Amino acid sequence: MTPDIAGLALIGVLGLLVGSFLNVCVHRLPRDLSIVFPASHCPACEHALRWYHNVPVVSWLVLGGRCAFCRSRIHWRYPVIELLNAGIWVLHGLLFPWDALLLVRIGFASVLIVLFFTDLDCQILPNELTVGGTVAGLVVSAFLPPGLRSAVLGVLLGGGVLWATGAAYERLRGVEGMGMGDVKMLAMIGAVLGWPLMLLTLVWSSIAGGIVGAALLAVRADARTTALPFGSFLAPAALAASLVGQPVLDWYLGFYR
Ligand SMILES: [Zn+2]
Repeated sequence: MTPDIAGLALIGVLGLLVGSFLNVCVHRLPRDLSIVFPASHCPACEHALRWYHNVPVVSWLVLGGRCAFCRSRIHWRYPVIELLNAGIWVLHGLLFPWDALLLVRIGFASVLIVLFFTDLDCQILPNELTVGGTVAGLVVSAFLPPGLRSAVLGVLLGGGVLWATGAAYERLRGVEGMGMGDVKMLAMIGAVLGWPLMLLTLVWSSIAGGIVGAALLAVRADARTTALPFGSFLAPAALAASLVGQPVLDWYLGFYR
């Protein structure tokens, strides 16, 4: 099957535009600001941007990564998040049949991108995305894979396992090891992907977290006291599970048939 180049290009352009909106979400959601008003403006001089200052990636390149009005630097992460979202959307277009589930999974991927950066920047996983995503995930799962039963189990198991782990850790060590944001985020992942892929996400994110945590301990003496933003590990793990998790599970479970 030859990929539909025009269709993929359209997905890429839409991915860039939505990526531009994700930047707004990453900046405003953890600060409890409206993601609609005011319109995009320079964080340094507050000058409102014109539409041609807001063209994804292109404007940043043309303006040399600086504000058109006050010339203060605009972070390179803005075009990177736009390109990241577009690239991940196109990847979905290549791996999924073009039906309703593709729309669900690209929306899910964009939510994961925002959660990755808000947890990294502010150690916040906004309820709008975690709780809102859980509700939205349950509703669409009633009509699409993984089905309502698997989604409900995903919410209960995902939230329950992390909550219990955090409670046990808190009892043993006397410090909070798992934030409620992580609990709600894994519940959301369970609602969208269903319980088997949710468990795969948990395994992959724990392995990645363990490796990064050990590496940090090796290079920084104070790493033991710095809590890792677990949501920033859950996000790429859930994305990988969404894209390739099912074939991996089929292959792995094949050993036990
Ligand atoms: Zn400015």
